[in-house]
Amino acid sequence: MTVFPSPGDVLQARRARLAEIAGTAAVLVVKPVNVRYLTGLNSSNAAVLIYSDGRAVLATDSRYAETARALPEGLEVVVEREVAARLTERAARDGVGELGFEAHAVTVGLYLGLKRILPLVPLSAPVEEVRMVKDESEIAALRRACAITDQAFADVLPRIRPGMTELELARALETRMTELGARKPAFDSIVAAGPSGAVPHHGPGERAIRRGDLVTMDFGALYDGYHADMTRTVAVGAVADWQRDLYDLVARAQLAGVDAVRPGAALTEVDAAARSVIEAAGEGEWFTHGLGHGVGLEIHELPFLTRAPAPDAVRNDPEPGRARLMDRVPITIEPGVYLPGRGGVRIEDTLVTRDDGPELLTLTTKELLVL
Ligand code: ZN
Ligand code: ZN
Repeated sequence: MTVFPSPGDVLQARRARLAEIAGTAAVLVVKPVNVRYLTGLNSSNAAVLIYSDGRAVLATDSRYAETARALPEGLEVVVEREVAARLTERAARDGVGELGFEAHAVTVGLYLGLKRILPLVPLSAPVEEVRMVKDESEIAALRRACAITDQAFADVLPRIRPGMTELELARALETRMTELGARKPAFDSIVAAGPSGAVPHHGPGERAIRRGDLVTMDFGALYDGYHADMTRTVAVGAVADWQRDLYDLVARAQLAGVDAVRPGAALTEVDAAARSVIEAAGEGEWFTHGLGHGVGLEIHELPFLTRAPAPDAVRNDPEPGRARLMDRVPITIEPGVYLPGRGGVRIEDTLVTRDDGPELLTLTTKELLVL
């Protein structure tokens, strides 16, 4: 149980921004990571009610009462177990006519219960929208998470050799990250050697690395709540021409993607900048996922850099492809090419958009390393 170290005015500004985006008389926030972002409380059972004038009421159960009461000022704290229902009743008592809620986070069961109390208005990830643009203290935490990730890679690299299994390598990276100060790995590490590299999210197994394998490692550190995400592909023992060509192609696409990152760029435009490099080489069909995603308090969060964004039924946006990057948005750029039965290459950095050009947070070399 830790308290996110944002001063009260930062939290207040986040809540005010949420109220502005929501446009309802009040918003009920139940997703734990969003409650944390808005109040500083890291709890498995908490909700916060935010009024359009910025007032906020936090509900959590007795296990977290002491921590909640020590939070920065500006929050009323209510100790209750049924956090969402009690806050909805509170909104009704305060004369709220319609309550906004997180359509992606409220279960159908909870929804049916709450709508007996008050009319509900579904909102499309409003807190995630606020969370997209980070402040400098958040970026500093992410920068540290990425530095730990870089250092763990550098420290483990000399130990990679034929005979080491994918699992052993994954564990070595994860152990080193925690030794360097990570709270834990930001997600289940991916290590894929040889033909396994053709599966983008291959879970590491007992396969031993062989001479001539490309080995893809996708991993990151969790530091102070923020998630780093980096992928590097290395060659072990020797590198064949096709492997070097594939690597060079993905590296060029990755650079083109990074170069396209700027505030104001359409998300689809950044994806296209990298994808077009791979398509021009005739390998477009083997780049099977989006170019990247936001990172922050979650490993995958807004914005998503894809070829064609999925329509959002809640937002009912006729042109979801218009979404654009803004200043201070941490994202990943991670093109990959996966050749069935042969292997794959993915190169991923975490970086942050800046008005004067993107700031790379993962700084490990992107030259092909032959170990
Ligand atoms: Zn990754
Ligand atoms: Zn990623």
